[in-house]
Amino acid sequence: MSTSAELHKRRIAAVARGVGSTISAYVDHAQSGTLTDVDGREWIDFASGIAVTNVGNAAPRVVAAVREQVEKFTHTCFMVAPYESYVSVCEQLIDLTPGTFEKRAALFNSGAEAVENAVKIARHATGRQAVVVFDHAYHGRTNLTMALTAKNMPYKHRFGPFAPEVYRAPMSYPLRDGSLGGSGLSGAEAARRAIDVIEKQVGAGNVAAVLIEPIQGEGGFVVPAPGFLPAIAAWTAEAGAVFIADEIQTGFCRTGQWFASEHERLEPDLITTAKGMGGGLPIAGVVGRAELMDAVHAGGLGGTYGGNPVACAAALAAIETMRELDLAASARHIESVLVPALREIAENDAGIAEVRGRGAMIAVELVRPGTIEPDPVRTAAVSKACHEAGLLTLTCGTYGNVLRFLPPLVISDADLDRGVAILRAAFQ
Ligand code: PMP
Repeated sequence: MSTSAELHKRRIAAVARGVGSTISAYVDHAQSGTLTDVDGREWIDFASGIAVTNVGNAAPRVVAAVREQVEKFTHTCFMVAPYESYVSVCEQLIDLTPGTFEKRAALFNSGAEAVENAVKIARHATGRQAVVVFDHAYHGRTNLTMALTAKNMPYKHRFGPFAPEVYRAPMSYPLRDGSLGGSGLSGAEAARRAIDVIEKQVGAGNVAAVLIEPIQGEGGFVVPAPGFLPAIAAWTAEAGAVFIADEIQTGFCRTGQWFASEHERLEPDLITTAKGMGGGLPIAGVVGRAELMDAVHAGGLGGTYGGNPVACAAALAAIETMRELDLAASARHIESVLVPALREIAENDAGIAEVRGRGAMIAVELVRPGTIEPDPVRTAAVSKACHEAGLLTLTCGTYGNVLRFLPPLVISDADLDRGVAILRAAFQ
């Protein structure tokens, strides 16, 4: 077997430079809370392949279901010759997402593709064009989703022109709105600020959809102030527009509920899902109000691989695992271990401005002591120290100054504690 160093050499000669990797070690195998690289080194996994392996890597039910399906048939294209598992995954999406109204669902391959389709559906159903998104948002890397994403580097730089009719409103960002400790903007005030921008710059009657991550992922694990999301959702309904929750990163038990919308009792008109849904196989979905989903003419939605049978089998097995192991409760348990430990680290570290997040989606934001000026240099240094000690962490945030933790929901307490100990040392 090749070493990581040998593989890295081959990679440089074969893989486009534009595709980056967080670490330079190459993976050999992985389980519930750890990865083992080709050099035999073990890594504690606080990344889950960016919030994907919620049920763990090579989760037993997922492996068995994939194996069984792949021997029966690998692909027919649901648009050509349909099969039961696609229908079953749609039924699960309908059942698990908030909202008791009649729903329909459709399946795709990636998060970006789900977002593109949610926008298509909203535009088609409303006959309007404008899509409102928020500061710090991340929705993908395709042309439309680059337009929907806020951050230039590395996602958009020199990749324009971008799709038109996308408008950006200010987000509720408690740390940077100065509302920690009760001063600054409340959720309602931050919503008013955003709605003012939408009404003045777009016009309520032009809005097809308001698209938002209930907790922003790549943008910095930004949890909006309480009341912000319900106020935006209420305004959207009044405007006759479609409220789309992008739950691609927050969905499937990650935040301690099946979907993060539940924390604020939201019932989004449409929800986009991907990542954790497939237990590691590529699958995504759009689920929501039947009258919106069914507004689109037959043949208007689809794709060759969307809801591939192997990916559907994996999704059904992943969902069953989440139900049987109550992984939403596991996410809450992870929060109850991580947050106090991080708060303790933060107490002795003036460079940590905030510990935030929900469930197993937790982050710390790093600043220059005594200010809220972002400190991306130290963030990268702490992350690197974690990697050197065998803890796989990721950074995020518009300013690159947020260290985020996304362990698999099945991680053991022992691995979680080992990860926390590495973090503590890395901050020192
Ligand atoms: N939306 C959100 C909220 C995401 O976090 C991501 C992926 N990080 C996407 C969309 C895009 O998903 P994908 O990479 O599967 O296209």
